[in-house]
Formats: sequence, structure tokens, C-alpha cells
Amino acid sequence: MAHLHYINGQFTQGNSTETIAVEDPATREVLAHVPKGTPQDVGAAVEAAKAAFDSWKRVSASEKAEMLHEASRKMRAHAEAIITLLTREQGKPKPENEEEVVWTYTTFDYYAELGRHLRGRVIPSTEDGVLNFIIKEPYGVCGCIVPWNYPLLLLAWKVAPALAAGNTVVIKPSELTPLTALQLCELAFDHFPPGVVNVVTGDGSTGEALVRHPDVPMIAFTGSLSTGQKIASIAAPMMKKLHFELGGKDAFVIADDADPELAARAVAYAGLINAGQVCTSTERVYVPKPIASHFVESLVDLVSSLRLGNGLDEGTDIGPMIGDPYRQKVVRHVADAVQRGAQVLAGGRIPDMKGYFHEPTVLVNVNHAMQVMTEETFGPVIPVMTYESFDEAIRLTNDSIYGLGACLYSSDPKKVRRFFEDVKAGTIWINDPLTDNYAGPFGGMKYTGGGRELGEEGLEEFRETKHVHWDIEARPKPWWLPYHRE
Ligand code: NAD
Repeated sequence: MAHLHYINGQFTQGNSTETIAVEDPATREVLAHVPKGTPQDVGAAVEAAKAAFDSWKRVSASEKAEMLHEASRKMRAHAEAIITLLTREQGKPKPENEEEVVWTYTTFDYYAELGRHLRGRVIPSTEDGVLNFIIKEPYGVCGCIVPWNYPLLLLAWKVAPALAAGNTVVIKPSELTPLTALQLCELAFDHFPPGVVNVVTGDGSTGEALVRHPDVPMIAFTGSLSTGQKIASIAAPMMKKLHFELGGKDAFVIADDADPELAARAVAYAGLINAGQVCTSTERVYVPKPIASHFVESLVDLVSSLRLGNGLDEGTDIGPMIGDPYRQKVVRHVADAVQRGAQVLAGGRIPDMKGYFHEPTVLVNVNHAMQVMTEETFGPVIPVMTYESFDEAIRLTNDSIYGLGACLYSSDPKKVRRFFEDVKAGTIWINDPLTDNYAGPFGGMKYTGGGRELGEEGLEEFRETKHVHWDIEARPKPWWLPYHRE
């Protein structure tokens, strides 16, 4: 497989002279080197995407759908190879990558169908004989900037609706996980006309060149808040369409009617899947005092039994983190919490293993003066705080700059309703944390950014709206100038 940019249907070194090493986070083995894309490489990809756009936007909806389905079929056929490479470059356990790959190809199927169904609309005219209708148009070249935690899923959530809507794309994968994006170009995207899908590998500077490019009217970005803010400040003067999916600090509230043991299993899953490196990871847990000790005991038992290991090994529950800077943030958050009075009841340390592992950790006696309860930790840490009343639980849940998701465990419909009405977050999960739905828009409120992926909203993000007002008779109007009549 070529470890090069994919521009205009060809793998190319471009004019990059520097490369970036891609590591397996479980072993620290270097898997490959990819070019560090320059502004010229980005320019070449944008030029190819721009040249392809005029014909791609005219390809019929059903032909586009067929090509998206074909991409999905190829991914299914090569699923095992994709899953293995994804596990090696990203680190999470193989079953989680199997799921990511299924979600990736099914997203292409979903938007293949939605793209050929959703059109504009005709609206009532204010004048007799005039036709008013709304058409939906693609933006043109969309820059898709993707993070490392779900390298294929988050690529698919952008690229599939972007293409279905008639845009062409330049993808900038994370410098930590670019290999599977290149693998898709070789195995699953090779039937698209040249220039429709392009990948430029590189780091933040490559992403920034894409944001700065004047021929890229739309940037779809998933990543951290600080990078989102940088992108916004660069793109705002150019009035680009920005589609942001930024950080989170999701709360999980256990209500007093919940079964503490079942709730503990749900919390362990929501907090530790992908080693806690999910934008919607449970990063704060609120439990009512009467059931707190039962809940915490169950949680600690379960978390202490989980096995760290290489994602490719059967029996691994939790893989490595993606890299040491991310792990050091976890170490800082745990130390800050402990220094302010928190207690570590499980994990809390870096184990003696080669990869970037961190033990799954449970903290109690935490409060909102601690970083671990207010800043995104993005690691395998579950801090548990007690509350007195459901009102307090809602207030604590909303006490965050982020508004991505929130979870509740309860079978009390009054509490459920109160929760989904009063919590400011883009997704509310009741008794089934972190389960997505292709038709269900996913995204956040507040500092998480207002973009939505999946569902009809996910396609709408990639379409511009145009209102056409057409007097078929081409008649003169009584309200035209001149106003004075002789
Ligand atoms: P990041 O912001 O460091 O990087 C994301 C991407 O942006 C990478 O491809 C990177 O190379 C690129 N980039 C970096 N600097 C750039 C710049 N100045 N201009 C343009 N591009 C630039 O984020 P990350 O560490 O890869 O991902 C983790 C973050 O992503 C977490 O904050 C997480 O919450 C967030 N995330 C959010 C969602 C969501 O749907 N809301 C989903 C997954 C991850």
C-alpha cells in the first residue's frame, strides 16, 4: 500500500520533503512514514477537486448513490484488512474497530440512499403565475479535517454526505492515523472519478493550509476546541461555511431508582470504550448518596477486572492511549484531583508496558474545582461525585462549557422528561449510553460547536440553499419604476 498523498486519483509524493512517522500505540513500532503535506500539495489537491466538481455535481443522484454503495461494497470485501490496520494505527480493541468499520461502510450506504431522496421544495408564490422553489446545491470543494480517535467513522460522516450532496473533497486525516484513510483510497474509493476524493497527509500546518485556501468554501472539522477556535479565526474573514464537532465533557447521571450494578456496567462502558478517547466518553458521573456506595463498589470491581493489552489480542478490554502527550494530560488531571482531595479507588497509574497505556481509573470525592470534572480529560478515567437532589444533578450536568452528549440511567418517566428537556446537549442517552443511529443527528451545543453529522441534518450541512423566483410569463410589474405617472 502506498503511503503517499492521494491526489486526482493517483498516489503521489507531491512536493513534500519531510515525512511523519506513524506509530502503533500498543507497541511503539513505526508502521510507516507519510509525507508532511505542504501548501503546494494542498493546492494541487484543491485544484484537482475543483476541476472534478463541475462534472461531479451533474452526475445523477442515482449514479452518485451507486458509487457510494460501491465504496461500501469494497469496504465490506476488504473489511478484515481495514480492521487490522485500524487496530494497529489507532490502538483500540479489535471488536471496537470491527464496529467502526461497519459504521463506516453503512454510512456510505445510508447517504447513498438519502442523497437520492432529499430534494428541495416548491413553496406557495405571492404572485399568480410565478413559480417559487428552493433548490439545494453543493458548496464545491469541502475540506474534511479528521481526528485520530475514530479515523474512518469520522471521515465517513463527512465524506459520504459531502459526496452525496455533490461536493468534492480534500481529506486531511490526523497525522497520528493517516494509514487507513490512504487504504480506503486504494481499496474502496478508486472507482470515483479522479479528483472527487483526495487525501493530503500531514499535521496541523497541512490542515491550516486547507483552511486558508481560497477555493475551499467549506471546512468540516472534528477535533479539539482549541484547533476549532484557530480554524474559526482563520476562516471567519473569508466567510467560509464551518461545520464543527469539537470537544465534550459528557455527564452520566444515575437516578435513585436505578439498579446500581447495571448502572455501573453502563458507566464502565461509556467511560472506558476506546480508552476513554471518545468525544462522547462519560467524563463525569453523578450518583445519588443512598446508592453511591453500592454503585461505586460494583464499578470498582468491574474496572479492576478489565484487561489492558494490544487491541489485536483476543481478551483485551482496553487498548493503549494514542500517544504520550494525551496520556500525560490524564496523569495531570488525576494528580490535580488527588491533590484537591480525590481518592483513587481503581487504577490511577501508568503500567509497566511498552505502549501508551494508562490504567482504567475510578476517582471518588471529586468536585467541580478539579480539572478532571471541568476540562476534557480524554482518557480512561471515571470520576464519581454524589448528589442530593435531581435538581442538583441537572445543574451539575449543565455546569460545563461543552454540550455534546449526556446520559441518564432511570426508569422514572418524570425524571427522564426533566433530563431531556433541561440538559443542554446535542444527544441524550437514556439507559443505553453512546449508541448512535444513522438517522439520528449527532453533534453538540455550546463550545462543542453546532455542527450535526448523520441523519438528514448531516446531509443538509453540505448543501447550500437557493431560492428561485420565476415569472414564467415575464410580465411587467405595476410596482416597478417610475413611481410617478404622467
Ligand atoms: P486536534 O484538534 O488536535 O486535531 C484534529 C485534526 O485537526 C487533525 O487532523 C489535525 O492535524 C488537524 N489540525 C491541527 N491543527 C490544525 C490547524 N491549525 N488547522 C487545521 N487543522 C489542524 O484533535 P485530536 O487530538 O486529533 O482529536 C481529539 C479531539 O477531537 C477531542 O477534543 C475530541 O473531543 C474531539 N472529537 C470531537 C468529536 C465530536 O463529534 N464532537 C468526535 C471525535 C473527536
